[in-house]
Amino acid sequence: MKVLKFGGSSVATAERIKGVVDILKSYYVQGTHFTVVFSALGGTTDWLLDMGGLAASGNEDYLVKFDHFRQRHIATIDELFHSDYRSQVTEEVERNADSLRNLLQGIYLLKEASPKTMDLVLSFGERNATFIVTHALRQMGVNASFLDARRIIVTDSHFGSAAVAFETTYANIRRHYDEHPEIQVVTGFIGSTEDGLTTTLGRGGSDYTAAIIAAGLQASLVEIWTDVNGVLTADPRLVKKAFTIPAMTYAEAMEMSHFGAKVIYPPTLQPVLRAHIPMAIRNTFNPSFLGTYISDQTDPGEHAVKGISSIAKISLLTLSGGGMFGVPGTAARLFGSLAQSSINVILITQGSSEYAISFAIQPAMAQKARLAVEQEFKYELAAGLIDPVKVEEELAVVAIIGENMRYRPGIAGRLFQALGKNGINVVAIAQGSSELNISVVIARQDESKALNALHDAFFLSDTVELHLFMVGTGLIGSALLQQIAKQADYLRDKHDLEIKLVGLANSRRMLINQEGISLQDDWSGRLMEEGEPTTLAAFVHRMKSLNLPNAIFVDNTADPKVAAYYEAILDASISISTPNKIATSSFYLQYQRLKTIANRRGVLFLYETNVGAGLPVITTLNDLINSGDEIISIEGVLSGSLSFILNSFTEGSRFSEIVREAKRRGFTEPDPREDLSGADVRRKLLILARETGLPMESSAIEIEPILPAACLQAKDVETFFETLVAADTYFEDLRQKAAAAGKVLRMVARLSAGRASIGLQEVGPESPFYYLSGSDNMIVFVTGRYSDRPLVVRGPGAGAEVTAAGIFAEIIKIGNFLS
Ligand code: ADP
Ligand code: ASP
Ligand code: MG
Repeated sequence: MKVLKFGGSSVATAERIKGVVDILKSYYVQGTHFTVVFSALGGTTDWLLDMGGLAASGNEDYLVKFDHFRQRHIATIDELFHSDYRSQVTEEVERNADSLRNLLQGIYLLKEASPKTMDLVLSFGERNATFIVTHALRQMGVNASFLDARRIIVTDSHFGSAAVAFETTYANIRRHYDEHPEIQVVTGFIGSTEDGLTTTLGRGGSDYTAAIIAAGLQASLVEIWTDVNGVLTADPRLVKKAFTIPAMTYAEAMEMSHFGAKVIYPPTLQPVLRAHIPMAIRNTFNPSFLGTYISDQTDPGEHAVKGISSIAKISLLTLSGGGMFGVPGTAARLFGSLAQSSINVILITQGSSEYAISFAIQPAMAQKARLAVEQEFKYELAAGLIDPVKVEEELAVVAIIGENMRYRPGIAGRLFQALGKNGINVVAIAQGSSELNISVVIARQDESKALNALHDAFFLSDTVELHLFMVGTGLIGSALLQQIAKQADYLRDKHDLEIKLVGLANSRRMLINQEGISLQDDWSGRLMEEGEPTTLAAFVHRMKSLNLPNAIFVDNTADPKVAAYYEAILDASISISTPNKIATSSFYLQYQRLKTIANRRGVLFLYETNVGAGLPVITTLNDLINSGDEIISIEGVLSGSLSFILNSFTEGSRFSEIVREAKRRGFTEPDPREDLSGADVRRKLLILARETGLPMESSAIEIEPILPAACLQAKDVETFFETLVAADTYFEDLRQKAAAAGKVLRMVARLSAGRASIGLQEVGPESPFYYLSGSDNMIVFVTGRYSDRPLVVRGPGAGAEVTAAGIFAEIIKIGNFLS
């Protein structure tokens, strides 16, 4: 004999009921002995609760809900049956509707819905649904009969969540099934007291009904048919990457369900476990899939952890005080007082100091629990031996579960590392001595982030998913997106790295999509069409409140308004990569503060592209310093525009013409004086100086101006060019003077002995700068190790492609750091 159970979503519509009937018909045709339990049509138990609540508060709208309820059943019948059956089934459902209407009217008049009355109200959901399906089976030729579980399941009178009287119930079941050999189609969720009052077994209790019948009949298997592919590694609504657990033990399944996996109602496992009846969790919408098999057998499996689950809402209470130390019986009294008040404890932790015991319970019970415990310890409280009970709210519990964690070191380490890297603070920890479960209490807002981070850490350590938020879609931003799109497959296959663009904004529009913004087609068109007007504050707020693990913010702008958010972003445990120099070259304190926050939050703040675009300048410098080398001097041509201008300034050319050409080719800022004045180089040199550990401010850098005063003072760019033409002879003189000595002109930034300066220099063939061409940058490090022959980094130091490549490299670096 098999016991099957179909949940509410499996019978939510006539269409779905037809699917269920098909599954059952095939069992029937194959000659399988089975009985089947049904829940109410999906969602209708909630409707019944609402109706009762509305009626009890004197709100006539209960009638509207009642109508929906009645109509939904009638419509389902109309779609399922042809005439003979239709009238018979409609008659019963209408009879039920009359009783329910009267009952609700009573509640409305009395303005009272006791748990006792509500259980009767709720019973109509299962009674209607099961009656309908029984007849749908009969219509298809299955010899089925309707069984109201109140005839067999006897409970105490704890309405709302009644306890089953197993002996009597099992005897009833055996007798009933002996006398009724045809297929029994049973109402889930409901039972009755000895004197015939309707009770319910708790929300989700139809699973339990199936298990009770299975135990009573010594069935060979229980099949729970639901709307997902079995028990998954985590709640699929919260963790998209969750996958089916093919086999698990009763103990594992019990832990999963106790810690929030709604797919099995927690008490369900007790009766089947005691009777050693295996249980399968199957998907009504994917009937050929085998789902999850639950039995005594441990499955060595490949993962240490079987599943991850969570309870979204808990309160943590703490009993503490010096008077608890070494006093035997304190814990017994504490939990005794909770048990007396029927308060279920989800988790307990006690420090070895015995100074405090913390326990997690449902928030609705928090005040009742506090009062019960304070009553129990009232003398100690009055004597100051213990403190008033502390209640912490807005918390959640996340648990990792699995028999294979036992005796396996390193699991807890991995757990805390994954949480820590995502900035999730652990409020309390509990590990059962069976090592079947490690639970952590965290802030409720971190629940989903924690589940996903742990899922990645324990199941997909191979694939790390990075969540990318990007501001700025100009030349650099577009190039970066193009590079990421092109490289995506390679990164996934070779580096197990998945880059998901979640947020994208430019100065006009912003788009946020947690499922990922596709880069394969026209992202820019979609940003403009589907995006909303950009507000940076809203973008940052949404990014923070999504609270995704492995989050990275990329700022491709040069905008101080974006840089102003870095602190808040890093503080939310989001790493940053940016070519924007504003933050790193403002006040030293600000630079320092950003680094400290990143450090404290365990995230990275990277800005290699601030100096020399994609060239490894800052990384090289840091590698030298970290490996113990001594930096003697750094010299560099740090501006691509100045490099282009001076490298092109050869015999026969005119300085003003070259500057014009540089501007025309986009090598300079719109006002070339930004480059020629050395302001941009100053920022870069300042950042390098700071990286060496100098707490330098911008004002400490000496700049020897390259431009005559008249050029600097010109009121606009056009006038500037006029003054520059006038200065051509001045520049030509400089060039000729240098050429006469076999030298060329270069704008060199220099850091040495704590001093930083920028100026035009004549350099001869003995200098590496002599050979620079195009818009190349060159940085020369003279160090303890590289003293005779310096270490030189050279290459294109500007341009969208190379800058984007530098940012891309940092994104991958952050990914590796986080995994
Ligand atoms: P039914 O109506 O069939 O009883 P439920 O809604 O009670 O279905 O339970 C199935 C739901 O449980 C799934 O749709 C899923 O959203 C949720 N769920 C939570 N945790 C898990 C998990 N670890 N594995 C599978 N489902 C889970
Ligand atoms: N219909 C009931 C509920 O919604 C029982 C169940 O679905 O198992 O709680
Ligand atoms: Mg359920």
